[in-house]
Amino acid sequence: MKKQLQPIDAESLLHEHEFKKTPLRIMLLEVLSLSPTPLPVAKLIRKTKKLAADPATIYRALNAFVEAGMVHALTVDKTKVLYELVQEKIHNHHIVCDTCSAVESIPFCIKTIDQQAIKVSRQFNKVHSHQLAFVGTCRKCIRALR
Ligand SMILES: [Zn+2]
Ligand SMILES: [Zn+2]
Repeated sequence: MKKQLQPIDAESLLHEHEFKKTPLRIMLLEVLSLSPTPLPVAKLIRKTKKLAADPATIYRALNAFVEAGMVHALTVDKTKVLYELVQEKIHNHHIVCDTCSAVESIPFCIKTIDQQAIKVSRQFNKVHSHQLAFVGTCRKCIRALR
C-alpha cells in the first residue's frame, strides 16, 4: 500500500480545525502531505526556507497540529521526533533505525488493538486512535557493524 503523494487541501484542513491560515502553516501541511515518510523538524525548516520562519514558530505550529490530531509525532529517541500528517485513509506504522534513523512505513496493524486496549483499561471505554512505533537496526547499519 503506497501513499498517494498529492498535496492536501491545507487551507480546508486548517479551517476545519479552526486554525488561522498562515503561509507557514499551509506550507508545513503541504510538505508533510507530500512526504512518503515522517519528517524531522530540520527537514521541515529546510523545506520552508523561503518563508524564513523562526524555528520556534515552526515548532509551535507543529505542536499545535499534534494537539489538534492533524499530525502524528513519532518519537525516535529523546532528541529526535519525526512528524507525519494524519490521513484517515492511510493507516500504517513505522520502523525506525536506532542507528541511522532511517524510517520505513509498514502497512501493518492489529485490527483489534483498540478493543484490546479498552478491555484492559479501567478508565476508558473508547479510544480514538493509537500510536505504535517499532525501533530496530536497519540492514545497512547491521552490515556496517560487521
Ligand atoms: Zn540504519
Ligand atoms: Zn495501527
